[in-house]
Amino acid sequence: MQTYDLIVIGSGPGGYVAAIRAAQLGKKVAVIEKKAIGGTCLNVGCIPSKSYLQHSHWVLAAEEANQFGMNLTVGSIDFSKLVKRKDGVVSKLQGGIKHLFQSNQIDYMEGKAEVTAERKIKVGEKVLNGRDILLATGSRPFIPPINGIDEVDYLTTDTFFDVKTLPDKLVVIGGGIIAVELAFAMRPLGVDVTLIEVAPDILLTEDEEARQLIKKKLKKMGIKIHTAAQIDAVKTSSVNLKNGENIGFDRLLVATGRKADTTLAAQLGVELDEQKRFVKVNHHYQTNLPHVYAIGDLIGGYMLAHVASAEGIRAVEAICGQPQLPVDPTLVPRCLYTEPEIASFGLSEKEAKEKGYDVVTKKMPFAGNGKAIAGEETDGFVKIISEKQYHQILGAVIVGSHATEMIHTILGVRHAEGTVDEIASMIFAHPSLSEITGEVANSIVKKAIHG
Ligand SMILES: Cc1cc2nc3c(=O)[nH]c(=O)nc-3n(C[C@H](O)[C@H](O)[C@H](O)COP(=O)(O)OP(=O)(O)OC[C@H]3O[C@@H](n4cnc5c(N)ncnc54)[C@H](O)[C@@H]3O)c2cc1C
Repeated sequence: MQTYDLIVIGSGPGGYVAAIRAAQLGKKVAVIEKKAIGGTCLNVGCIPSKSYLQHSHWVLAAEEANQFGMNLTVGSIDFSKLVKRKDGVVSKLQGGIKHLFQSNQIDYMEGKAEVTAERKIKVGEKVLNGRDILLATGSRPFIPPINGIDEVDYLTTDTFFDVKTLPDKLVVIGGGIIAVELAFAMRPLGVDVTLIEVAPDILLTEDEEARQLIKKKLKKMGIKIHTAAQIDAVKTSSVNLKNGENIGFDRLLVATGRKADTTLAAQLGVELDEQKRFVKVNHHYQTNLPHVYAIGDLIGGYMLAHVASAEGIRAVEAICGQPQLPVDPTLVPRCLYTEPEIASFGLSEKEAKEKGYDVVTKKMPFAGNGKAIAGEETDGFVKIISEKQYHQILGAVIVGSHATEMIHTILGVRHAEGTVDEIASMIFAHPSLSEITGEVANSIVKKAIHG
């Protein structure tokens, strides 16, 4: 029997990062993975979706340029080459993780981890003995009980990136971040896309103004949106709504959220939360079993790659006797990679008021910024939610080009326990989109030049 200080199950952004940190701290580590190295994020999530979004960005940029006399022709799209590019991106990053495992002397084992009668971890014929176990088994697509769904050949995000030919008509059931990003990725390639959302609106987790801007853009791109939809049944080639409308497709994608993969946790006898959806952990990501820890999508909260990694590092440091504070959800950036992008963190204005803060919210549009005007990137705004007396930063929302990068300026200051005054006194390069951030901060401290 091989013995390890730490056995990590799952090689997603939670598991692989935790394994490397543990090895850096001198632990003998094994990682077990039943599918592909890198988990959901690298293989069927963050990375393939961003690869596909880059293709749509190229098309949209050419269309934009044509409005100003460039006369660029996109021509026909060789989708197989786009798939090949995406596969290349994924395999390059997989190679990077494998290399890091080797250089940190981590034993990587392919296969499904199971629990033996003696509560040891087994992979294939091998039985492993681990002083500590880190469960990083992530999540899988959640399929709601829709009439007829089981008789239909539908795609999930686990299979969407395997599709080798572009559909003519793609219907997406779902209106959350993943559904919207994939609609954005497909429409510029000529795919007729319809989003069907049962909730009152799409992107309900996002800032109201941000959501409206993205909806406007989706509609401008010709993406059809049905909100508050009542699905009667799914048939072989259509989604039939209760209002009598039948929406035809040649590919159907169900993107209605994800559920934690608690299979192995259940085998180990780990306690779940009250709703039995996620593994229950304490502040150090320790489960009710003292030597079993859990992180990432498996424990709920923000189901994001960077959260899984941050939790993985904290769990391992706790195991190694170097405990940190748990991940602070108010410091987690949340990003949507559409055009324009949305990025946010912390409290919304409404949440801040509900918590009793004396709130000052200021917002400035991209439309007044020199670089945005020069680059035809005038859609969007920067909004900072702050507290009146000490100018504490409570939250921020940025909609616009490069929002997912820009958010880190405000977040960085907040992380370092700085206030709006620190941002206001910074010197921002001219011309830069980040100047808007400086101006919003200055408008809060009543020093805005352009406000
Ligand atoms: C289309 C899409 C786009 C996304 N885009 C983003 C984004 O832009 N940014 C972002 O932050 N997040 C994004 N996410 C979410 C992100 O992918 C997840 O939050 C993240 O992957 C969670 O990491 P994890 O390590 O907890 O689990 P996972 O990445 O799910 O990894 C868990 C791994 O455990 C393995 N496993 C499970 N059980 C066993 C077992 N018994 N034995 C061995 N191995 C096992 C699985 O095979 C899997 O590889 C996206 C998700 C999707 C689907």
